[in-house]
Amino acid sequence: MPAVTVEDTTALPRVPLPAPGTVRRRTRSVTTAPSGFEGEGFPVRRAFAGVDLRDLDPFIHMDQMGEVEYAPGEPKGTSWHPHRGFETVTYIIDGTFEHADSHGGGGTISNGDTQWMTAGGGVLHIERPPEHLVVSGGLFHGLQLWVNLPRAQKWVEPRYQDLRANSAALLASQDAGALLRVIAGEVGGHTGPGSTYTPMAMVHATVSPGATLDLPWRPDFNALVYVLSGAGSVGIDGAPVRTGQLAVLGPGDTVTVRGAVHQESRTPALDVVVLGGRPIREPIAMYGPFVMNTRQEVVEAFEDFQAGRLGSIPAQRVPHAAVRGESGQ
Ligand code: MN
Repeated sequence: MPAVTVEDTTALPRVPLPAPGTVRRRTRSVTTAPSGFEGEGFPVRRAFAGVDLRDLDPFIHMDQMGEVEYAPGEPKGTSWHPHRGFETVTYIIDGTFEHADSHGGGGTISNGDTQWMTAGGGVLHIERPPEHLVVSGGLFHGLQLWVNLPRAQKWVEPRYQDLRANSAALLASQDAGALLRVIAGEVGGHTGPGSTYTPMAMVHATVSPGATLDLPWRPDFNALVYVLSGAGSVGIDGAPVRTGQLAVLGPGDTVTVRGAVHQESRTPALDVVVLGGRPIREPIAMYGPFVMNTRQEVVEAFEDFQAGRLGSIPAQRVPHAAVRGESGQ
């Protein structure tokens, strides 16, 4: 159950009705995310596995983290690690994560907050649950999206944006049966707080059973719908989707999402994240934490990291794990 909810969605601004002649996008593919483990072993679903990078462009990778109910002592994060050439967007739906980077960015994000880190020319960072949550355990659910940077912006200064839950633009569908949280980009004249290098939009929608969401979507953006939980259908063709599935939609002006009338009791609504951006259409060479244009640039990124040129771990503001000597991984 997402932390950011609204008692009365009828009081929210509504997304506009699709204009006459609007083209509702069709579903091109539906894939199922395999489960894996990230960092020190927190459970993830690899949302984009098996999908051609050209269909994802400008997005590279996305992990759904959890949903998991940790026992005391169990919550896990990552150790210090580098990135170059793209942005990491971490959206915490439930729970708390701490972050620190070698460029002075960082902080605590929880319950609907988003941390938008532009790695640009290079940064080291660490992402972990806070110590008190490691001790107590608890609910954790979020996602991390990787947004590519075009060649001209791969070397920008690292940047950190702390987007609080209450800064997301809240909207309702025409039938008020869907709650939209606009985190970045513009939907129906309402703009989310995230500042992006690559033009894009990111919306978290909770669609009630039986409700229909017709989301205006820029025709020059691609359109991806990932199901965080629940069941429903997407596109004008009504392709069925459920928890952990990604739908890639074809061209058009409108993204259609419907909540199935019957939902499992543990997931009372359909929760999706809708992503779109203007494709960069450049060659991609990626390995591990680096997303570049050529293989040689990836090799240089590893060399720069090993030589300490991507930054050094700050002496101050270090989350607890670094003190245990897990640095430099
Ligand atoms: Mn990372």
